[in-house]
Amino acid sequence: MRTPTAAELLNVWEHGLRQRPIDRALGLLRAVYPEQSTEILADLSIGERDARLLRVRELFFGPGITCTTCCPRCSERLEWESDTADLFIHDGTTPTDELRVEADAYRLTFRLPTSRDLAALDSGTNGGRDERRQLLLERCLLEASTSEGELLRITQLPNAALQAMVQAIDQADPQAHLLISLTCPACSHCWEGLFDIVSFLWAEVNAWAERTLRAVHLLARAYGWREADILAMSPTRRQIYLEMAG
Ligand SMILES: [Zn+2]
Repeated sequence: MRTPTAAELLNVWEHGLRQRPIDRALGLLRAVYPEQSTEILADLSIGERDARLLRVRELFFGPGITCTTCCPRCSERLEWESDTADLFIHDGTTPTDELRVEADAYRLTFRLPTSRDLAALDSGTNGGRDERRQLLLERCLLEASTSEGELLRITQLPNAALQAMVQAIDQADPQAHLLISLTCPACSHCWEGLFDIVSFLWAEVNAWAERTLRAVHLLARAYGWREADILAMSPTRRQIYLEMAG
């Protein structure tokens, strides 16, 4: 892992403004893991990608996390706090090999979904949830057969077999759907909310970029310094100059 400079991170952000969330996530990973190609990063399982994004978050903004959400029952706004260390379900060691399940006399061999799969779904279909799920499973299914060895297409598989595949994927890559237990202080409703590190981290990077550009604007106006020189300063020194400039 390497910490990008402020100028590099601003470039990633500016590029990301025109990108889909999946590609923004890959852009942030690429800035921190420059030794790994976009192709390698796109082939990480979603859980492994999200574990790495949590580490990127620690690197950029530290471990403390504060989130706001709304109670699904009474719409009360509530804030929850956590630490990135508590959000790692495991330490990034997801199985990359083939997974197998046997269900209802059907044998399925498959792999975990990746960013590449999600990107293909986004550009390939305007369909509903069921259609997207079917397409995702189709991409991840490597082989399906009866217990006698007769090869089958995904459309020939019963729903129970596909459900077993979904469960195996969820178990093998739990970081991909990080659930946070929440209780509403107003109505005591309890539920599990999905923590989406992709949108959470992007919102933080976006806010950081706007703060940074504002600092550049104020310092350039006050002192006539160049953008590159202002960005090359440590955040502490930039802040001190900002205060001096009033
Ligand atoms: Zn409530």
